[in-house]
Amino acid sequence: MQIPRFAGIRTFMRAPHTTDLAGVDAAVYGIPFDTATSYRTGARFGPEAIRSASALLRPYNPALDIDVVETLSIVDYGDVPVSPGDTERTYGQVEEALAPLVEAGVFPLALGGDHSVTLAELRVLAGRQGPLGLRQGPLALIQFDAHGDTWDEYFGQRFFHGTTVKRAVEEGLIDPAVSVQAGLRGSLYGAEDLESARAAGFAVLSGEQLRTLGPGGCASLIAARVGRRPVFLSFDIDVLDPAFAPGTGTPEVGGLSTAEALAFLRALRGIDLAGADVVEVSPSYDGPGQQTALAAANVAYELLSLRALAQR
Ligand code: MN
Ligand code: MN
Repeated sequence: MQIPRFAGIRTFMRAPHTTDLAGVDAAVYGIPFDTATSYRTGARFGPEAIRSASALLRPYNPALDIDVVETLSIVDYGDVPVSPGDTERTYGQVEEALAPLVEAGVFPLALGGDHSVTLAELRVLAGRQGPLGLRQGPLALIQFDAHGDTWDEYFGQRFFHGTTVKRAVEEGLIDPAVSVQAGLRGSLYGAEDLESARAAGFAVLSGEQLRTLGPGGCASLIAARVGRRPVFLSFDIDVLDPAFAPGTGTPEVGGLSTAEALAFLRALRGIDLAGADVVEVSPSYDGPGQQTALAAANVAYELLSLRALAQR
């Protein structure tokens, strides 16, 4: 309350920008990479736009009855280094930057960037050494997305925003048997686009099924499936309808409203979040009120709130 929320240099939720991890519970960081996209680029500017839109987020979340800032010591870790046009080199850079966070037990929340970046995050989190020196192993993935991202390749590229989940399964980073993909919709190249994810073992909920289940039903299904496994929650902003989130790379009509998305996230209270990201915000396609970036900032806030609830 020293200066109004709109003043000052923008960090996420006006958290201090530091890479000093002493006493830190959660770090928000940007991955400004967008050259693994299939349609519109521009998500390299996502972290900047989400930070800007986050300025109005206040500490207390009444929907979950939690003071996020009082419960979690949150920092903005800044953006990690990337190499435009080189996905695999970028993965190495993200992994190197993220490792100290994960080793310090800090909850990492990434702002994308296109959805290719999630693979690097999962590599670090699944490879984390636990208290007995054992690798944490495959995580449960909860993915809100219009797309499954389970293609094998795209124009010969194996590391790409539409292949992330398939690579993560192949590398043993996530266990499909305890994972859920939710919100899938839109035209496909063929029925096999959906069948391959189900054949791999994922619970796949279409956008229509998600809406029919509702937040409570979806949360029960996820809880039953995930069990006690640590969860990585990946939120692709295109799970929202383009009316609510036009600023994204691969828009599909018929998606969730912003209010629905918040309700689905809030219903997940009680899950053990090991890490999370919000990806595919492409500000140059956003509306004049920056509603996509604002929705993404609020999604990130709900994810921090879920982590804060678990920590409390
Ligand atoms: Mn995606
Ligand atoms: Mn998507």
